[in-house]
Amino acid sequence: MPRQVVVVGAGVIGLSCARLLQQTGYVVTIVARDFPAPFETTDPIAKINYASPWGGAHNRWVPPHPSLPAHLTRDHALSLRTYTHMKRLHTAHPYTAGITFMKGIEYVERPGPEYLALAKDGPDALRLPGSFRLLDSSEFPRDGRVTWGCEYDTWCVNPMVYCSFLLRQFVHRGGKVVTREVRRPEEIFSLDAELLRVSPNEGGGMIAAVVNASGTGLVPDPNMTITRGQTCLVAEDCDATVTRQNADGSWTFCVPRGFDGGTVIGGTKELNNWDVKPSAKVREELLRKFTEMYPKILGGQKQLTVLRDIVGRRPTRNGGPRIEGELVPGAGFVMHAYGLGGRGYELSWGVAEAVVEGVERHVTGGEAKL
Ligand SMILES: Cc1cc2nc3c(=O)[nH]c(=O)nc-3n(C[C@H](O)[C@H](O)[C@H](O)COP(=O)(O)OP(=O)(O)OC[C@H]3O[C@@H](n4cnc5c(N)ncnc54)[C@H](O)[C@@H]3O)c2cc1C
Repeated sequence: MPRQVVVVGAGVIGLSCARLLQQTGYVVTIVARDFPAPFETTDPIAKINYASPWGGAHNRWVPPHPSLPAHLTRDHALSLRTYTHMKRLHTAHPYTAGITFMKGIEYVERPGPEYLALAKDGPDALRLPGSFRLLDSSEFPRDGRVTWGCEYDTWCVNPMVYCSFLLRQFVHRGGKVVTREVRRPEEIFSLDAELLRVSPNEGGGMIAAVVNASGTGLVPDPNMTITRGQTCLVAEDCDATVTRQNADGSWTFCVPRGFDGGTVIGGTKELNNWDVKPSAKVREELLRKFTEMYPKILGGQKQLTVLRDIVGRRPTRNGGPRIEGELVPGAGFVMHAYGLGGRGYELSWGVAEAVVEGVERHVTGGEAKL
């Protein structure tokens, strides 16, 4: 009999985990408060704690380095695995998955040691799958403040097209979904089989594992907080996803969403800022800085066509995402996969692989800590 797993959460992490568990042979139910819906009708305040609609979402390579937090090495490996899955999905479903491959361009005003090492030793240590090229200074923006740049092959997704695609694949292959709010992941073990739409006698026990893909964790965790992000969606397309790290710590970037989704111009990264309202002044700044840096996006127009402001909360965890198994006394095995911060899409399939591995290890009698 196939084993049954319940995934709490239907953001990009819960959906990726659910799909991969399903492909591995598990019978999977997703229980979540929020599910993917068209971005155009998603309420900015009611859904602010559902991070996935508000992401860009692009993949940027974040080079690990001995001087940086250790989890970045693990995260880089997860991003490489994700790239492979995105390539496969894009090839198999070019018109429906919501994935677009394009150039990623990086400009850095004050490069840290990880970028200087890359300039000196080349990208081989990062094992990047596509092409990678350091930019010549003649290719930098004209303001003279950028001192390091590169371009590489990467992917972007239109978040709600992509997440809806994953959900559709999941349901069409027999996955069950339940809209419900829970207080703790382990609460799932006490819920009715009927509610969870699982059969009590399959696989020896009712539920082999619960995957906690709730974004912010739903368990006491002193390392969890949020990073507010304000961006602006414009109607224009762009030929690349361009990111600039400014010397004052701010970021200027664009993420073309594809699939008629326009382009996200960003963006702020504000730790512990819980303000739900966008600032018109910030929007003006973001648009001005981006068009000065990359005027090509204007295509000869005077200004960009603003569709809407975006404010989102990145589920940020000091020390990096929590991806580990926990045997909760009196309940059962919970595989945590939360705290993805600003990299949920980038790391999603790598996380899903780690989750499947953790569940398998538990089911076959081991423990999981990654
Ligand atoms: C402005 C902005 C730009 C970003 N850009 C990028 C980018 O370019 N690339 C990238 O990779 N990432 C980006 N991110 C980050 C990315 O959006 C997040 O990392 C990702 O969406 C997190 O996904 P998740 O599934 O962990 O959480 P969420 O999307 O928040 O999903 C959590 C799920 O758990 C459910 N849930 C929560 N609590 C409960 C409960 N009590 N009971 C039942 N269900 C519950 C929710 O309903 C939801 O279904 C960006 C984020 C922001 C805000």
